[in-house]
Amino acid sequence: MVKKKKVEPKKKPLLDKKTADLLGLIFEKMPHRIELLLFTSPGRNEPYSAAIREMIRSVETLTDKIDWREYDLAHELAVKHQAQQSPTLLLDPEHTHLRWLGAPIGHEAESFLKSLIMIGHRNANLGKQSLKVLNSIEEPRRIKIFVSPTCPYCPQQIMNALKAAVERPDLIFLEIIDVQAMAELAEKYQAFSTPTVYANEKLIARGAQSEELFMASLKKLEEEAIFIPDNEAEEIQVDLVVVGAGPAGLSAGIYAARSGLRAVVVEKGVLGGQVAATPLVENYPGIPQIGGKALVDIMVAHALEYANVFPGEEVMEIKPGQPLVVSTSRRRFLTRAVLLASGAVYRRLGVPGEDRLFGRGVSYCSTCDGPLFKKRKVLMVGGGDSAVTEALHLHQIGVGVTLAHRRDTLRAQAQLKDSLRTAKIPVLFNTEIREIRGEDRVKEVELFNNLTEITEVLAVDGVFVSVGYSPAVELALRTGVELTEDGYIKKDSRHRTNIPGIYSAGDVEGGYKQIVIAAGQGSEAALAIFEDLVNPYWVSDQPFGSGKIIEA
Ligand code: NAP
Repeated sequence: MVKKKKVEPKKKPLLDKKTADLLGLIFEKMPHRIELLLFTSPGRNEPYSAAIREMIRSVETLTDKIDWREYDLAHELAVKHQAQQSPTLLLDPEHTHLRWLGAPIGHEAESFLKSLIMIGHRNANLGKQSLKVLNSIEEPRRIKIFVSPTCPYCPQQIMNALKAAVERPDLIFLEIIDVQAMAELAEKYQAFSTPTVYANEKLIARGAQSEELFMASLKKLEEEAIFIPDNEAEEIQVDLVVVGAGPAGLSAGIYAARSGLRAVVVEKGVLGGQVAATPLVENYPGIPQIGGKALVDIMVAHALEYANVFPGEEVMEIKPGQPLVVSTSRRRFLTRAVLLASGAVYRRLGVPGEDRLFGRGVSYCSTCDGPLFKKRKVLMVGGGDSAVTEALHLHQIGVGVTLAHRRDTLRAQAQLKDSLRTAKIPVLFNTEIREIRGEDRVKEVELFNNLTEITEVLAVDGVFVSVGYSPAVELALRTGVELTEDGYIKKDSRHRTNIPGIYSAGDVEGGYKQIVIAAGQGSEAALAIFEDLVNPYWVSDQPFGSGKIIEA
């Protein structure tokens, strides 16, 4: 009898054809070859070594400009380059001091590909303002950036650090450290949230920063909160500046540009806003279920077909007038209209220990930091859709999660509550968090049962907080935009605020917080802006608020 040969399922290539073709063209134009040195040790972090090998091989098939060699950690070259962890990848060691500890998988794959392009061009493409700050640094900086493959905020911060390392190879030594592969290092630096950046052994940043703020933090060796550009910043004339690249801002960018407006979208944080950090989005029309980052990638790709999108750039000031002057951390826009689509920021619990232990076990992003708590015990606080979605996500990735909610029923949708029951995730009802305790990391929480009035202490390794959002209205307030009593932007039915030429859309306006609603408001505002620019109400007899004022 002839034995049938078993057909192995075909392995899906790491890069899809479109990406591979595009990368091939980009690599073709790179003026410099890139040397990659990989150090591994059999039996140590094998899956990560295999992943990084696969990634390099995928790139190698696209270009002949990559030379890579792999050595054992015991090899003399590893000693020469002080490579001690497996896997360690040195990128172009003759020209830069740049290494990856762990594997660039998940969201980091894109950063890795971008780093190759940057190195192949030996051009960091830094903005003028950042370059000035970076060039004023005189002493070496040894940067350690802790990242995780599921963290949507990490690629931006990695790019900032990469740019510094490529621009100043004389002074900048960069280690990109994957916290999952390098758990001991993460533990040593107490890096329990990502991205976290140390320079010369000092903590200089947590979360993603604008390029300019990163360089300022790197220079000062401390966590900088604000960057003011100098007077020489470039000036650009546009019709519309959209502040914020969440669903509202991106949709506005598309609709404004489609109407013929010169529109730019400026985002200080991560493209996609809160959605980028949402593990799972359900029921966006046409898409029953999708990961938040995947949805954001689709929206961003679409928006980029129409509008200029500037990530990692912060709007610092808006001066009303015609034109309005919008100063960012990088440049000044002279514009005819501004749309505030700055979204919302996560709400804090406001209990002792929360701020001090942030990044030390307290987290507001389960997709970013969840993997650090695998096989550990954490408390998820909140009773809405987000808290339940995130508790389910933590459970799925192997975290021992308990949900704590201050009421006797959850606010979340019935379907999510069912999933919670099916997953057998314990829920502590009527439970308030009174204090989060621990010396240098979370050790326990004090819980108060508001029904029995009993206080007890629960030992946990982490506390994830998901108790809703507050509107991000700081910039609006500084500009003189009026707010409602609830703290949202006060606008009329055409999204006009009290200041001529300034509009709002999305979560800053209050109302139902749903992605589809934010997207709808963004497009509606863009259309209203287009009509107003064709026929400006501020130069006609038509007073502000000719639309009906809506209290959010
Ligand atoms: P949310 O619906 O406002 O729920 C916040 C939860 O946190 C509530 O249960 C609230 O308790 C609790 N809370 C607030 N302040 C607290 C405090 N100081 N201490 C303890 N608990 C506190 O917020 P969300 O869950 O982030 O959802 C926001 C919006 O996004 C909602 O409209 C939601 O439907 C939407 N969303 C949709 C999806 C989806 O896939 N469709 C997924 C996630 C979110 P109380 O109940 O006592 O007020």
